[in-house]
Amino acid sequence: MRREKYRCIVCGRVFPQGQGIIIKYQDMLLSFHSSKCASKFLRILLETTPYSDLGKHIKRIHEDLVEQLKMLDKKRAKKI
Ligand SMILES: [Zn+2]
Repeated sequence: MRREKYRCIVCGRVFPQGQGIIIKYQDMLLSFHSSKCASKFLRILLETTPYSDLGKHIKRIHEDLVEQLKMLDKKRAKKI
């Protein structure tokens, strides 16, 4: 079976399926050969998108993740 190949949209490196990070977003395929390139994309996104557009979403996700961590800490504390 032939493996699909992807091209990193940040650095242009070609990598096989199963490696790297592939994110389907609407009709786009965001492909990154490494987490380093994915984080570069994230940084560009944060730096170039106005806070008025992105701020509330980032804030919500951040709050959700912090909340999840708190619950995880509680579970861990119970086990000890
Ligand atoms: Zn790359």
